[in-house]
Amino acid sequence: MSTTPAGQENPVCPACGCKFTAKKGKRRNRLQLLQVYRCTECLHRFTTNAGNNVLVIFSDMRQDTLTLNLEHPRMVSTSLAMSKAEREHLLPDLHGVAVYALGVDGAGKDIAYWQTLRDFWTAYFKKTGADLESYSVLRDISTFAR
Ligand SMILES: [Zn+2]
Repeated sequence: MSTTPAGQENPVCPACGCKFTAKKGKRRNRLQLLQVYRCTECLHRFTTNAGNNVLVIFSDMRQDTLTLNLEHPRMVSTSLAMSKAEREHLLPDLHGVAVYALGVDGAGKDIAYWQTLRDFWTAYFKKTGADLESYSVLRDISTFAR
């Protein structure tokens, strides 16, 4: 399986700039799955840079599904919610992803609830391997929108 889907071009070789590069499988590093390419001209091997993965969540972060309900309790128990998330397989692999949770308002809840909810999500994203860069009631995206 080495065919390239129509319309999808391989990246240009960073060493010689030629356009004839071939996919040479995938390699996993600590942070992400990398597509490996080899230049057919100079035989330089390289990977595409997929390191700028940013996940922005505009939400009150109050997940309320049958499997994980964070809206209902007066306080969020991190250990309880984490064990649920693990049991229900709600932990995707987010290694190499920078997460910004913005606009996390505390409407209708007290500050203690907001803090315990934040504690849970902090633990949650840590478990997924993501970097939780921001968790804020503000909606300021200037920190990453350059
Ligand atoms: Zn080359």
